[in-house]
Amino acid sequence: MDKAEHSGKLFIISGPSGAGKGTICQRLVEESKVEISVSMTTRNPRPGEIDGKSYYFTEREDFLTEIEKGGFLEYAEVYGNFYGTPREKVIEKLSNGVDVVLEIDIQGALKVKEAYPNGIFIFILPPSMAELRKRITGRGSETEEAINLRLSQTLKEVSYIDKYDYCVVNGDLEEAVARVKAIVMAEHSRVSQS
Ligand code: 5GP
Repeated sequence: MDKAEHSGKLFIISGPSGAGKGTICQRLVEESKVEISVSMTTRNPRPGEIDGKSYYFTEREDFLTEIEKGGFLEYAEVYGNFYGTPREKVIEKLSNGVDVVLEIDIQGALKVKEAYPNGIFIFILPPSMAELRKRITGRGSETEEAINLRLSQTLKEVSYIDKYDYCVVNGDLEEAVARVKAIVMAEHSRVSQS
């Protein structure tokens, strides 16, 4: 991946649950020439989520088999469910010159960084913890206990921010999208890889 000059760029977008990564990634796909990698997960679909588009929803047993086969570029257990990035699909897109976005959690991002240090790592932050709670509560899909778990996890996650190349605060969605699009454009003009 690193060697091929014509290969696509790998963008890794992570940040606390509820920071708005999903919406930003969706806009990025619509408005920039990037493709998102669809992850595999063992969690149940939320209302409106489509198998093969939002995620590949799968049974735990099948996920474990895929781990054994080395089918994931990275995988992690997040809040009791497994999530993984299908390796082949990402590599195929990159070698065809397509930019790929991984919307993954911080554990996963750190694993990708070891394997692909030339990836471009972007951390999305919510404007405040109060706003984050409001957003997660607004989804209506999480119990109070799950919300509190996600919020306490956030504080831990933010301590990894220095492992990232960029940080974008998502207070105003339009501004956050514009910033991430600007990062994608800037990376295509990059000369130095250090
Ligand atoms: P959710 O259940 O809210 O869709 O996702 C929970 C967390 O899992 C989010 O932080 C999301 O970015 C992360 N996630 C989604 N797909 C992957 C993946 O393939 N790998 C890893 N490591 N995390 C993922």
